[in-house]
Amino acid sequence: MTQMQRSKRDNYKYKGLRLRMIKELMSKGITDVKVLQVMLDLPRHFFIEIGFEEWAYRDQAFPIPSDQTISRPYTVALQTSLLKLTGQETVLEIGTGSGYQCAVLSRLCNRVYTIERHDTLFKLSNTIFQELSLFNIRNYHGDGYRGLPLKAPFDRIIVTAGADKIPHTLVEQLAPGGTMVIPVGDTHGQEMQVLDKDQDGNLTQRTAGKCEFVPFLQGKVGAI
Ligand code: SAH
Repeated sequence: MTQMQRSKRDNYKYKGLRLRMIKELMSKGITDVKVLQVMLDLPRHFFIEIGFEEWAYRDQAFPIPSDQTISRPYTVALQTSLLKLTGQETVLEIGTGSGYQCAVLSRLCNRVYTIERHDTLFKLSNTIFQELSLFNIRNYHGDGYRGLPLKAPFDRIIVTAGADKIPHTLVEQLAPGGTMVIPVGDTHGQEMQVLDKDQDGNLTQRTAGKCEFVPFLQGKVGAI
């Protein structure tokens, strides 16, 4: 799948389906009202292939171009809630993918920088960000393992691809008082890791449940 046909219209049917999705997320343990409100407002069906549009508000992952997936709504809600955003933060996201997670973040913080290794997805998500007037997003085509040293440090870092270990480069780019959320694991399974850096730079780590992400891979793909 290289090209993607998408819907650009929202309507009451989709709004109704979103409300049902929000109730499902609440029943699965999501309690952050601000996160739920943003997901109630944001049209997830804009970010996926038109053929899947009818199912856009099921709690499911779907294929997107470049053999990647859009994360399921529960995962987006969980990762976003773990970041505990107040609206002031500068956030770095690794793995733009469809752009949906980034769009949710953009409504809850001051600025989001996002990096995607596939040129196709970088371009596609950029178009959707423009359509939705999400002007506090800066997106990059590059290798997320490097982070974004020129814009560091970041108050929050969110990785949306599964790493085999926490990359040191990204930890270095986390601001004192900051939080990083990253799925870590191997072929046997991944766990969501939450890393807090205190004002002195000391790190504490805890886990926040099992998860399933496409792999965090080195290097970028597509146009230079
Ligand atoms: N946040 C996305 C999830 C997409 S899946 C969404 O809401 O749709 C994870 C994405 O991470 C994929 O698009 C994959 O290409 C990307 N990715 C994997 N390794 C990467 C790397 N080193 N740098 C940047 N992006 C990477």
